[in-house]
Amino acid sequence: MPDSFFSCPFCGLLCDDLPADVERIGCARATRLFSVPAQGQCRVSGRPADPAEARRVAAGILSGARRPLVAGLACDVTGHRAALDLAERTGARVDHMNGPAQFRNWLAFQDGGWMTTTLSEVRNRADVVILAGTVASAFPRFFERCLAPESQFGDLARRVIVLGGPISRLPEPFAGSALTIPVPATRLGELCAVLRARLTGRPLPVREVAGVPAAQIDAVLEILRSARYGVLAWNAAELDFPGAELTIQAMVDLVKDLNRDTRWSGLPLGGNDGDTTAAQVCTWRTGYPLRVAFESAGPRYEPLLFDAARLLAAGEADALLWISALDPARVPPDAACPRIVLGRPDMVFEHPPEVFIPVAVPGVHQAGFMHRMDGVVALPLSVRVASELPSVAQAIAAIQEEMKRVAA
Ligand code: SF4
Repeated sequence: MPDSFFSCPFCGLLCDDLPADVERIGCARATRLFSVPAQGQCRVSGRPADPAEARRVAAGILSGARRPLVAGLACDVTGHRAALDLAERTGARVDHMNGPAQFRNWLAFQDGGWMTTTLSEVRNRADVVILAGTVASAFPRFFERCLAPESQFGDLARRVIVLGGPISRLPEPFAGSALTIPVPATRLGELCAVLRARLTGRPLPVREVAGVPAAQIDAVLEILRSARYGVLAWNAAELDFPGAELTIQAMVDLVKDLNRDTRWSGLPLGGNDGDTTAAQVCTWRTGYPLRVAFESAGPRYEPLLFDAARLLAAGEADALLWISALDPARVPPDAACPRIVLGRPDMVFEHPPEVFIPVAVPGVHQAGFMHRMDGVVALPLSVRVASELPSVAQAIAAIQEEMKRVAA
């Protein structure tokens, strides 16, 4: 690929084919998020401040905290490494802004493992693709990048089945050809369980399940069985209801069962706001995928207890460091404790935090690496616009230096 193409950090696809003129790619999300000023203003309690003062106030808050929380974590690999260094130094808990969706997946994964695939395999081998409870709209070029291209291994006729999700939002040519079956997201698990039962030959003594007629369930089962390489995709962020991890568990189990006769894989769509990158870095540093507390005995993993929203709601954090270098809309939650924000320079606050330090956007103002949603590749990000904004890692290092100076 020519050097003039570059990678986009703004969703889990990390498209690596962007031209200098980003608008030509036709992705509204990329067009919106690549448009960011190269300068920003530090603020303390909403008023303009110089960087040294902002660092000093941030260092004072973190030095005085006994139970800090490092959250948001929307940045690149070096930013995550620096955030974990700071968390280790301050005894903080860490969680990503997409933690609730991430942990629906992790809870299912930890319960019994899963079989998943890569975006390249989807593009080149998948002849049947189920989109369960999603049409991948959070990943604007998913169809263009993964389903529309021809396989590099020869002819591949692809069949797309949408279980739930609005058909009108599917792009051509899939809008007319996809099989769509309306199913409420809350009943997808039930449908998967019945498909598993039918796979083993158990009778179905009812006329319908989750609104799907019994005859259609058997017709879908035949499509699943006859696939040479099937893929079941879901987006945990869209499965937002109590017990949704059990729905994901049912999908994962269906994939496992289908592998007795043919080949199937899961595809957990995600990776937005650097969440896959954050989980990878935390896993290689601590052995756990976030929701970790750095304690004197070592990292402690509690996926329910260390949910950032729960910690803040329960008053169990006395300082919040919120990192959000990718999307200005991802502002920190309101909290009773002091908030320090390392954010995009175009971030606007309804309730200003105690400290705001504008930081460089990875892939726009600074080079770096991020992990794609499938976790198998870390793609390089390049500088598109010169900027003197500090990276997240540099901003954290400067705060740590200030903390050392105060402690000395
Ligand atoms: S689909 Fe995602 S990664 Fe690709 S250009 Fe759009 S926002 Fe960027």
